[in-house]
Amino acid sequence: MNPDPRTIADALRRWFAADARDLPWRCAPAGSRPLYPVLLSEFMLQQTQVARVLIAYPRFLARFPTLADLARAGDDEVLAAWTGLGYYRRARLLHACARALVERHDGTLPPDPAAVRALPGVGAYTAGALLSLCHDLPVPAIDTNVRRVLSRLHAAASMSTTQAEHAARTLHADAPPDTPRAGSGLLNEALIELGALICTPRSPACERCCLRASCRACAAGDPTAFGRPAPSRPRTTMHCATVVIRSRRGVLIEPRPRQGLWAGLWQAPTLEDRGRPITTHRLRSALPVQSLHPVDAFEFQTTHRTLRFRVYEASPRPHARLAVAPRRWASRRELERLPISSPQRRILLGLSSP
Ligand code: SF4
Repeated sequence: MNPDPRTIADALRRWFAADARDLPWRCAPAGSRPLYPVLLSEFMLQQTQVARVLIAYPRFLARFPTLADLARAGDDEVLAAWTGLGYYRRARLLHACARALVERHDGTLPPDPAAVRALPGVGAYTAGALLSLCHDLPVPAIDTNVRRVLSRLHAAASMSTTQAEHAARTLHADAPPDTPRAGSGLLNEALIELGALICTPRSPACERCCLRASCRACAAGDPTAFGRPAPSRPRTTMHCATVVIRSRRGVLIEPRPRQGLWAGLWQAPTLEDRGRPITTHRLRSALPVQSLHPVDAFEFQTTHRTLRFRVYEASPRPHARLAVAPRRWASRRELERLPISSPQRRILLGLSSP
């Protein structure tokens, strides 16, 4: 027998009202929350732990207090304020989304799923979160956590997005019709929270779970056999050789390509190779430098990659023109304001990851 949707929805709302975390972006009840805190937190929380977002969120908000401030800001300012969160593509998309909201919708969220899905960086999950948390609309928000909870409730080994959306819609349809502010936003946020805190991938705390009486995976005795994640991609290794060249005008920097890892961020000139370490011979062919002195070697982990850095200090060849656009010199004060990835901050500023 399938779990009763009304019982599940009621239990989730009661549990969330009593036990939810007090997070700064939850500044108003789910369903009537202002757009800007919802937008910021949803972009920041994608693939990033809450602990990191708790550090970055107030800093970002102090730098850009309103959606209009963010929309007006320059690209480099926004990327620099994103430091510590990684996945800088999200910062670009958030910025583009803020601009689109101001230009197309006067800085407000349209209560129209198609218009929200047309915003930059807004997929099905983010659209559901925005529409339900800001307008209390019954639109599912299926992230990895919610998919796992719904799969376990129905004792499914895994669920497709379509199946999970169908299961979530069943719960939304049972929102009490006479309590419009106790509906969909609260339900979505409770499902997300339960997946993050209680129904975790490896050790679900069924004994403390508000859905225990309705859960088919729990009744089966081995909840971790259900709602399994898709197999993760194998890790790859990237070899990186970075050359630090100084002059009285500062240190030589270049922008990264506009696509891919750390797109558009600044760095000291760097060669990368997926296959083998980069030789000093190759560095000398690529850059007009003479002596190369190794000064540092370290590894940096991203979600799917290990990056092996070798860092050199170099002196330029006589009369060599180094600062040819887009390369340029940057002072230390300027470096502190530019968007720079964590490993390059270590190289250029002697700073570890925040
Ligand atoms: S009872 Fe256990 S498996 Fe079922 S939803 Fe709760 S924590 Fe997850």
